[in-house]
Amino acid sequence: MKLMTPGPTQVRANVLEARSRSFCNPDLDPAFYDFYKETCDLLEKALRATDHKAFILGGEGILGLEAACASLTEPGDRVLVIDNGIFGKGFADFVEIYGGEPVLFSTDPLQAVKPEELRSFLEKDADFKYATMVHCDTPSGVCNDIETLSRICGEFGIMVVADSVSAMFGERLDLGNADIDILCGGSQKALSAPPGLTMIWVSTRAFAAMKNRKTPIRSFYANLLAIKDYYKNQWFPYTMPVSDIMGLRVALDNFLSDPEVYDRHERVANATRKAVKEMGLELYLNSGMSNTVTVIKVPENKSADDIIRKLRQKYGIQIAGGFDYLKGKVLRIGHMGENCRMEDVNETLEALKNLI
Ligand SMILES: *Cc1c(COP(=O)(O)O)cnc(C)c1O
Repeated sequence: MKLMTPGPTQVRANVLEARSRSFCNPDLDPAFYDFYKETCDLLEKALRATDHKAFILGGEGILGLEAACASLTEPGDRVLVIDNGIFGKGFADFVEIYGGEPVLFSTDPLQAVKPEELRSFLEKDADFKYATMVHCDTPSGVCNDIETLSRICGEFGIMVVADSVSAMFGERLDLGNADIDILCGGSQKALSAPPGLTMIWVSTRAFAAMKNRKTPIRSFYANLLAIKDYYKNQWFPYTMPVSDIMGLRVALDNFLSDPEVYDRHERVANATRKAVKEMGLELYLNSGMSNTVTVIKVPENKSADDIIRKLRQKYGIQIAGGFDYLKGKVLRIGHMGENCRMEDVNETLEALKNLI
């Protein structure tokens, strides 16, 4: 089955090989602490972090979002939830679970959040402990400029939690040029390792906010303070999934040794959008499309489930449909990470052409 979904993505053979090697006891072997730290250092370098520490957590991408909200939110905290998509709005649930008061800033779901609209909103009300935002909101494929949006929040003294799970390593992101306090990523999107790991970048200011809480963090597994000093203490709060991390390291090395990775994502995304329109199909968004995924309206009188099933059964290609309010309305082709090759996209589009 050729995976052409916006995560999980195809995994290169050297990543699969790394995951099958024999391994050590990650709690007890000092060499593993060095290996883990080196991998985190590379994650920092990959996104040009200047003031962040990166960590790898054993748990799917969602764990990072929850850990950020669990670690920062205290009962009664007002949190600005920037929403132009399903993941954007979804942050409100995590804020509520940990006793915070989410305040939605909802904008047109068919385009990126406009920085000037965020600024006008904050000029009226900026009493927020932190704001949440999403880089690529995968169900619609809208890509927000989180470097600019986070800097605007920073001007108002508001910390920022950003979900770049389905954008990072495919869309350019320079942490040194942003004002993001906690950045969340996942192993199975553009980094192209199998699902299972969260990568998270935490600023000095975010750790200070966690330490200065009046109430304890109401979680163990999602408590970022628990892992903060793993290297100094040579202790992890839970046993690290060592094989997953060995695979992730090779996937990261693959990314770092590919100097044209961002250009390729841009080129393949542009070509995909163009080809989709030439086939007579309509893109879901008006503008602000991510270079990691293309979201297409289901043609009238066609069933999304039918198209997806036939692509799988007849052509051995897996694409994704929609969920939540987009269920049955869209088809999604993920062209991120290892999926981001023109041959694979062309094969997918040729097959799709026969089904519409
Ligand atoms: C994939 C994804 C996540 C993580 O979701 P999982 O269900 O754990 O894969 C979070 N945010 C966005 C925007 C995503 O695309």
